Amino acid sequence: MSTTRQEKTLAEITVEELMIPSEKVAHVQTNNPLEHALLVLTGSGYFAVPVLDNENKLAGSISKTVILDQILGIEGYEVEKLSHLQVADVMDKDIAQIEKDKLFIDGLKTLIDAPFVCVTDGDGKFAGILTRRAILKTVQREYYQNQFGL
Ligand code: AMP
Repeated sequence: MSTTRQEKTLAEITVEELMIPSEKVAHVQTNNPLEHALLVLTGSGYFAVPVLDNENKLAGSISKTVILDQILGIEGYEVEKLSHLQVADVMDKDIAQIEKDKLFIDGLKTLIDAPFVCVTDGDGKFAGILTRRAILKTVQREYYQNQFGL
């Protein structure tokens, strides 16, 4: 008989079961102009989103702060840079990532220092993201189950 996620203990839940799958994650490509990245970030309302290469492998992440920093000149924002620079030129390559078959506690540890962590499959392909929200919701559910048997 298979066990549903509701019935599993925290120790048994995998990152894959908690992640937002790639098709629902707002992202940009390495060769997109910064203009496009800023549109995605503003439109989605997210502070940062993952960056993928042309093989759908994780390449980094990009945030509004990095973009605004890059286009700030001595006399103000140089908006024309948004179409001259590409995402790959300015993205953060040193990002937290985790494989999808890791356990809940591994995911929790990576999220102590980051609001989200990118999830990859065994081949380094982007599978989705794990957010602090997903971890906190899971802890909350466990708390109520233990306290009140809900
Ligand atoms: P949350 O824990 O839901 O506040 O999410 C933390 C961060 O994860 C957000 O600030 C975004 O940078 C990122 N994020 C959450 N959901 C998505 C999504 N669907 N697509 C892209 N990035 C996301």
